[in-house]
Amino acid sequence: MSRLSADDSHEPSIPARYGVALLASALALLMTWLFQPFMERNLFLWFFAAIVISTSYGGLGPGLLVTLIASLSIGYIFIAPFSLFEGGSETLLRLGVFALVALLISSLIAGRRRSAMFTQAQSEQLHVTLSSIGDAVIATDVHGRVTLINTVAESLTGWNSADALGQDIANIFRIVNEETRQVVESPVERALREGAVVGLANHTLLIARDGAERPIDDSGAPIRDRQGAITGVVLVFRDITARMQAEDTLARYQLLSEHARDIMLFIGQDGRVVEANRAAVAAYGYDRDALLGKTIYDLRDPASAPAIDAQMEQADSSGILFETVHRRADGTLFPVEVSAIGALIDRRRVLISIIRDISVRRRIEAAQAQLAAIVQSTDDAIIGKTLEGTIISWNAAAERIYGYSAEEAIGRSIQMLAPPDRSDDIPQILERIKHGERIARLETTRMRKDGTLVPVSLTISPILDANGTITAASTIARDISERKQAADRSAHLQTIATALSEALTPAQVADVVITQCITAIGAQAGSIALLSEDGDTLEVVGASGYPVHVLNSWRRFSLSQAIPLAEAVRSKTMILIELPAALAERYPQLGQPAVPEHHAWAAIPLLVEGRVSGALGLSFGQAREFSIDERAFLLTLASQCAQALERARLYEAERQARERAEAAVRLRDQFLSIAAHELKTPLTSLLGYAQLFQRRTLRAGSLGEADQRALGVIVAQASRLNRMVAALLDIARIESGQLNIQRAPLDLCELARRVVEEAREQAEEHPLEITCQPEQLLIEGDDLRLEQVLQNLIQNAIKYSPPGAPVSVRVELQGAHASVAVVDRGIGIPEAARVRLFQRFYRAPNVDERQISGMGIGLFVVKEIVMLHDGTVEVESVEGQGSTFTIRLPLMPSDK
Ligand code: ADP
Repeated sequence: MSRLSADDSHEPSIPARYGVALLASALALLMTWLFQPFMERNLFLWFFAAIVISTSYGGLGPGLLVTLIASLSIGYIFIAPFSLFEGGSETLLRLGVFALVALLISSLIAGRRRSAMFTQAQSEQLHVTLSSIGDAVIATDVHGRVTLINTVAESLTGWNSADALGQDIANIFRIVNEETRQVVESPVERALREGAVVGLANHTLLIARDGAERPIDDSGAPIRDRQGAITGVVLVFRDITARMQAEDTLARYQLLSEHARDIMLFIGQDGRVVEANRAAVAAYGYDRDALLGKTIYDLRDPASAPAIDAQMEQADSSGILFETVHRRADGTLFPVEVSAIGALIDRRRVLISIIRDISVRRRIEAAQAQLAAIVQSTDDAIIGKTLEGTIISWNAAAERIYGYSAEEAIGRSIQMLAPPDRSDDIPQILERIKHGERIARLETTRMRKDGTLVPVSLTISPILDANGTITAASTIARDISERKQAADRSAHLQTIATALSEALTPAQVADVVITQCITAIGAQAGSIALLSEDGDTLEVVGASGYPVHVLNSWRRFSLSQAIPLAEAVRSKTMILIELPAALAERYPQLGQPAVPEHHAWAAIPLLVEGRVSGALGLSFGQAREFSIDERAFLLTLASQCAQALERARLYEAERQARERAEAAVRLRDQFLSIAAHELKTPLTSLLGYAQLFQRRTLRAGSLGEADQRALGVIVAQASRLNRMVAALLDIARIESGQLNIQRAPLDLCELARRVVEEAREQAEEHPLEITCQPEQLLIEGDDLRLEQVLQNLIQNAIKYSPPGAPVSVRVELQGAHASVAVVDRGIGIPEAARVRLFQRFYRAPNVDERQISGMGIGLFVVKEIVMLHDGTVEVESVEGQGSTFTIRLPLMPSDK
């Protein structure tokens, strides 16, 4: 506070003050001179007036100046005009008294003057103070009439001082209770009544002249005079709108900060916690006082401490948002997000830190990240879509399977994946999802971005929000091409196996394998090369898809060639080349591939029981990888191929052998046929003449007994030879389809009896018996041929039985057939031989060729003749015990 002094204001300048003194002195001198005759001894009179004026105006200095001038001039001019000190002691005394009185007057006046000036300055300063202080001030007299109103009070009440002065304070200072709106008693009245300082109740509103209302805070104090009597009241009040707002705001902030879930800390520049909210107390586990004693260094994970200073600096200068780790009282750590900024609070620089525990967020983020990682890394497409079918999420596998990137797909309709012939599919699925249905493993087809189709297995589920409302759908799509392909391939292998079983030549096998391979595995060309017998060369036995010039130059090539096919044979392992660069690397000397369009190759050795017979080669139009399934498929195929080729080779060998055998048989038949024809004529005449000669000599008795016996042997052997030739001729006829029968009605019983009778004559040592049941069995047949049949069976029964063994012939009626069974107790026929018994030239292995002669023709001819009669022939036998041959012939129809 500055000290008030008389010099502070309104003090005339020094020249003015002393000028006035000189002027007053001059005037006094003039007046003294004019009135000298009347003044006698009171010469100083005018000068007293000048001293009073000068001192009043200019203070003590000018007063003394006038006193000096007066003393000199009066003494010199008027009392002793030529010699001041000649006037004697009286003159000096007068002058001395004058000076003393003048001094007294001057100092009295100067003192008054100073005091007046001080008062004025004080009043002015008061006035200035009142008008410049922030509070409104109104003063009244003892009757409550306004005597002073400062500018702030003017603006708050709406009354200017001109209007307000002299007004009753009640008109100007109108106050009501904020809540009740009751008029509140004026503090002026109370101050006057109680004679003490009074304050206002809270919640007081001042109503201004224009009706505006403001909350105010005020006090009234009585003004007392020196004697202590009340002379008025001074009212001091202020608009507290802003303060109330500030208080409200502060209260709100306190409320907020206390109820906030986030931790709020005020941190001093030394890092000390100066304020903390309830959340902070809860989060760190210190009680409030302990927390206020901590520093931010105590609350942080020590590992992150080095960063603190820089972060505090940045927070203070521009604010900062960062994530870090905080530490609780028990030493456990938790991740937080910190937002901090510097502020001036209570004239102190602090950091306001809002700290959020993000453990849960971190966990959710981690879970989400894990989920996202799973979604992104799975092989299944995972697609989110709205119930209207708009795609809202699209993972990496979806991108791989369908060819659209996430940016391309999200926002578009899922309908874009529907193949044209399945456009109804998706709306129907969405409809089912809307009804809460889940669709599992629906196998269908979808269309890729490039228009190709992909077989997929779909699982579609509704997505529910927190209220359980279906808001979207999630599709998991699995690309089942591989599975389909595998299924296709196994179907192909089946087809191939079937086709191969019918392929008889290596060329046919090659054709089947290559064709199937091309379709099953998507090859562009294929070939099969077989190893030559000497094992040095490979020869292409079948190829498809290669240009002619390539085929021509590779028809035969050395096993030492550096190409996959030859290497597969040499190494007996499958060679897979997945791209041209790999081919060039493996076979540098090969140069360009034979067909530039081919970009991948496979060569698989053909192995049967570890033996390599060749290789299957395939060429592909695109660089490719061979899946495990495909490798397995190729190996299986090659193995099937190798086996089929082996079969074809064996079949070929067997065919050739058979052909050779058949040619030999044909040759033999030809020879026998020719021989029989050629033998027949001379033999017939030889036998004829021999028999004639026998009869004649027998009648004439011209030959001796020995000769006659010799002649008998000639006839018998010639007859036998004749029968053999006849049999051979029968075979020749049967072979050429010229064996005919002449049907005529005949009695089978009679025929059988005749043949048995003839046989008895020739085989006396074998008891031969015949039964016929009934006595007569009529059939239609060739008498001679059927006789030949019965002769043959009976001859065999005799021939293959030991001497003395009986042979019986049974003729019977069996339904619509007549049967003849020839039963012997001979050597029997091994079971294995029975099926071939009726083949020509076949003889059972139990026959001792040296003991029992025969050509294996008889039963063959028997069968042919019986068949020509629409009959059957059967054999039953037990080896070593005997055989039964039975023929059955249809009876003659009764109407004939
Ligand atoms: P062949 O008697 O001239 O050998 P066949 O055609 O008459 O020719 O007979 C064929 C074969 O049938 C005989 O070689 C013999 O092995 C067997 N066979 C035929 N009849 C009998 C039989 N009654 N007992 C045992 N084996 C017989």
